[in-house]
Amino acid sequence: MTVREEIDLKSFIRHIPDFPKPGILFYDISTLMRNPDAWQMAMGRLARQIAPLRPDVLAAVESRGFLTAAPLADRLGCGMLMLRKRGKLPGRTVSHTYDLEYGSDTLEIQEDAVLPGQRVVIMDDLLATGGTLAASATLLRKAGANVVGASVLMELTGLGGRARMDGVPVTTLMSYE
Ligand code: AMP
Repeated sequence: MTVREEIDLKSFIRHIPDFPKPGILFYDISTLMRNPDAWQMAMGRLARQIAPLRPDVLAAVESRGFLTAAPLADRLGCGMLMLRKRGKLPGRTVSHTYDLEYGSDTLEIQEDAVLPGQRVVIMDDLLATGGTLAASATLLRKAGANVVGASVLMELTGLGGRARMDGVPVTTLMSYE
């Protein structure tokens, strides 16, 4: 990817200070999604990054991971599954609770969502501290998946999230210091 291409996509991301709480700069993809050319360009680039990983299934992290996983599963001809917050998925589930800065959170997956050894790529909008993607990888492995990669639209590189991924390769379209 050239620098020019990266700058073009970044210009569609809106930065909202102090959301959802004071001190957080929120990277809003609504402004990317509402522009059909920019969104299509972003999905095309994601597809080119993910295809070499040969996924059987894309694992979408609630909720903005759903937005990229659904069109990408369609483009790549693979399946998709949802990683959701506690209590949202019907039927038998496997769960994983992980620590946040204050408190904890729980992600769940349907028990039969993956077949043993299936190649899975995790999808979310943004990588910050890496807590969410690392917990997603742990949960998917508990359910029997072979986690071959993670894909985000944006990475905040200064927070070191990539280092928490235990060697799972992470691809991103846009990097921010
Ligand atoms: P983390 O677990 O710290 O890597 O945070 C990543 C998750 O939190 C993703 O699901 C993001 O949607 C969300 N997130 C964290 N920080 C931001 C931010 N500055 N702007 C938008 N979303 C964020």
